[in-house]
Amino acid sequence: MKAYCWFLGPMFLLAACGTLRHSAAASPAPVFEEHFTDSTLRLDYVFCGDSNHQAIYLQGLVKTGPWAGRRHNLQEPLLRGNGQVQVLDPSSGAVLYSNSFSTLFQEWQDYEEARNVPKAFENCLLVPFPKHTVRVEVALTDRHGKVSSRISHIVSPDDILIRRLQPNGIETRTLWEGGPIDGAIDIAILSEGYTASQKEQFYADAARARDAIFAHSPFSERAGDFSIRAVFAPSQDSGPSIPHLGQWHNTLTDSHFDTFYSERYLTTSSLQKVHDALGTVPFEHIIVLVNTPVYGGGGIYNSITIMGSSHPTFDVVLVHEFGHAFGGLADEYFYGDQAETPYPADTEPWEPNITTLKDFASKWKDMLPAGTPIPTPVDDLEKIDVRRVWHTFTPEQKALLNLKVGVYEGAGYMEHGVYRPVQECRMKINECESFCPVCTRALNRMIDYYTRK
Ligand SMILES: [Zn+2]
Repeated sequence: MKAYCWFLGPMFLLAACGTLRHSAAASPAPVFEEHFTDSTLRLDYVFCGDSNHQAIYLQGLVKTGPWAGRRHNLQEPLLRGNGQVQVLDPSSGAVLYSNSFSTLFQEWQDYEEARNVPKAFENCLLVPFPKHTVRVEVALTDRHGKVSSRISHIVSPDDILIRRLQPNGIETRTLWEGGPIDGAIDIAILSEGYTASQKEQFYADAARARDAIFAHSPFSERAGDFSIRAVFAPSQDSGPSIPHLGQWHNTLTDSHFDTFYSERYLTTSSLQKVHDALGTVPFEHIIVLVNTPVYGGGGIYNSITIMGSSHPTFDVVLVHEFGHAFGGLADEYFYGDQAETPYPADTEPWEPNITTLKDFASKWKDMLPAGTPIPTPVDDLEKIDVRRVWHTFTPEQKALLNLKVGVYEGAGYMEHGVYRPVQECRMKINECESFCPVCTRALNRMIDYYTRK
């Protein structure tokens, strides 16, 4: 979970069985129009297993709306993620399109429950709809970046059982238009737990979500690179389910607290319902806005941001979670050390804002002032309860903690062995107003990856 504060239970290593395919250097960059149409192919998979095993099964194929994703930078994802999807030329093996992602399933594998019962999780991956028969490969990777499970299958664009999704009549309003569908980064904000009579409340909440994102640098300067649409479909009941109170509601996408038995963890496992509701709306990133004043939510890289709509910290937590889901940023906070680290010392994490020092040169070494000791000692201000007194700090004190780049030990839930770029950041505490310089650069790089050839 990427929603503050529960990294529970021991973690288990997954059996490594290979590495990801990298054929970019071996084949010329594909021309989008030669291989793909303007439509989207939705690949519905079930990821299943327990703490030690994984399997991937194809559940169905869906042709949805216009392709809203990249038409350049097709062969390599910017970040590795915890999984990758690749579309391949079946004869040459050349990579025609790729993307990376993370999953709720892999997160669940670290919980105690996964030691006792195998479970299955829905996942929907989007790729451009192919013009010709292609091979699709999906791989999940372990914490060492090694492939732990894989599926490979052929997709023919002429397959009559590819479900042709029809417009579902669900209402959409454009909240911000930074450019055309094939240029801008398209975000869809979906209503969840809003009844028909709460429609205007949803649109107002969605507008607050838009404003929260654009209130933060670098999104504020890069607003012209984004388009945001709000998609309203009513739920029968108001608000998500709250299992620990015995409250079960009939809502559009089955959102609920108590995910993995963690009381404040709000998610949905019904990703097909989310995608069906979004229908033919063009989107690359999803924010599910859940009608509740209770704190909760999460962000999963290139999968989903889900957030309670009206908690007092909505604005800042939404942006934190969007940092995970859009930017692949890691949590910079930490607790005491876990029995098993999610970030082993022999592997450089793929997240751009933390390091194990295994390959620090690939991170923010170039942003480090000359002579900075590693690890970097914290300043006296950082030794007090920063969250409690943050509001009393001067701008200069805040800048010291948020802008002075170093290699501070403690990040990614671990007090030791994982390092963060600054002392305080939007990815560490709610009180800090800004992303740090390293997160900011990582977000800018991601925006460039989507929008610049
Ligand atoms: Zn940061």
